[in-house]
Amino acid sequence: MNNLNCDVLIVGAGVAGLCAAIAAARNKLDTILIEKESEIGYKIKGECIEKKSPIFEKIFGKGLPKDVILNELTGRRIYSPSAKKFMEMEHSELMVAIDYRLFMIEIFKELSKTNCRVFLNTKFLNIIEENKKVVGATCIKDNEEFDIKAKFIIAADGNESKIGNELNIIQPEIYYSLKFNYENLTVPNPNNIELHLITDPPGAMWIFPKGPSSGETGITVWTHELPDNFDILELWRKKSMENDRMRGIIKEAKSYYISRDFLNFGGPIKNIFGNGVAFVGDAGGHVGAIGASGIISCMSTGFDVAEFVANALLTEGEITEGMVEEFKRKYKKSQIQKYLKKEQSAGKMLRNVLFKSFKTEEIIDENWEKLETMVVSQSGDF
Ligand SMILES: Cc1cc2nc3c(=O)[nH]c(=O)nc-3n(C[C@H](O)[C@H](O)[C@H](O)COP(=O)(O)OP(=O)(O)OC[C@H]3O[C@@H](n4cnc5c(N)ncnc54)[C@H](O)[C@@H]3O)c2cc1C
Repeated sequence: MNNLNCDVLIVGAGVAGLCAAIAAARNKLDTILIEKESEIGYKIKGECIEKKSPIFEKIFGKGLPKDVILNELTGRRIYSPSAKKFMEMEHSELMVAIDYRLFMIEIFKELSKTNCRVFLNTKFLNIIEENKKVVGATCIKDNEEFDIKAKFIIAADGNESKIGNELNIIQPEIYYSLKFNYENLTVPNPNNIELHLITDPPGAMWIFPKGPSSGETGITVWTHELPDNFDILELWRKKSMENDRMRGIIKEAKSYYISRDFLNFGGPIKNIFGNGVAFVGDAGGHVGAIGASGIISCMSTGFDVAEFVANALLTEGEITEGMVEEFKRKYKKSQIQKYLKKEQSAGKMLRNVLFKSFKTEEIIDENWEKLETMVVSQSGDF
């Protein structure tokens, strides 16, 4: 593989990277998108999103494509760890369960209308710096290393960003998770999301129905204090079997997809811009810090940052510190940043309180009404 040059190199073809690539390439920047996997959407991520968002208009020119929508989710129930108590809420915005892989194909269709060059099976290895400015990346494809020189790099390489790591960026806060996609579930209410809080370790199990007998389930832990031999699959087996309701839901179910992953719960990192590089999506912590909802916010930040980069490069030929500061100042006031910031402080506060009360199931049940008031007042999503 020969060395390459471009205006913008985007690393990672998740929702953030794809949307960044669309924005850059639509603005006629010479754009390269690289993805280490052999497939777009290889790892199935979030499948429960709001039905309406301005980013869908920007990407698809209309709303969310109908064929990706599997189910409408109008409300949610949160159960206490003893399962004796629950709180029930309606979503302020209609949520839908989607088919993630179809969704990724729909986004990719939009990208394929542009001149963006897409390289699969191509892994970012390390950055190339000149005078402390990022000017490119060394990559590997088919066991062959090559360089891609770029005027700007957008790091959309997800949790544990290798680019962030190399540049000593403080990474967003992530927790272990495990996700299953199932058929043959016994879903009590196909229009309700269910969250089941757990103790020891603190965390939650969830069910996102895709219909009366299909859906996503999973588990996450909200602590890093775990034994060396911690195995999230073992924890799922134990907790789902101990919980009568969850056991009933999955007893006949067959899983066709399982993935160990991380959920991003910390909110946005302090500075998403470095010299010649920006971090978007999970890599920038652009995820709601209460419920780890990241699809829409990762798409939006990917798109908006790439659009800023395109405007700057097209008008001035470079991206100066002043331009970055101006963008950050304006972006702070955007709807998506306000949402991320609100979630960041509310998420921190909620988990602080939960961890204090999480000591025993009895304490949680005793304080359930207080928790309910707090959850309802803090956010539409939990
Ligand atoms: C189990 C689970 C459930 C979730 N549920 C929801 C939900 O219901 N609703 C919601 O809104 N959000 C949910 N989220 C969060 C949401 O899915 C993520 O925030 C979002 O998908 C992140 O998108 P991204 O593009 O930033 O990162 P990713 O999708 O992780 O994409 C990063 C890409 O970079 C590639 N990459 C990494 N390293 C390299 C490298 N060195 N070289 C080249 N490529 C590289 C990866 O292969 C990957 O394709 C969930 C997340 C998980 C894990």
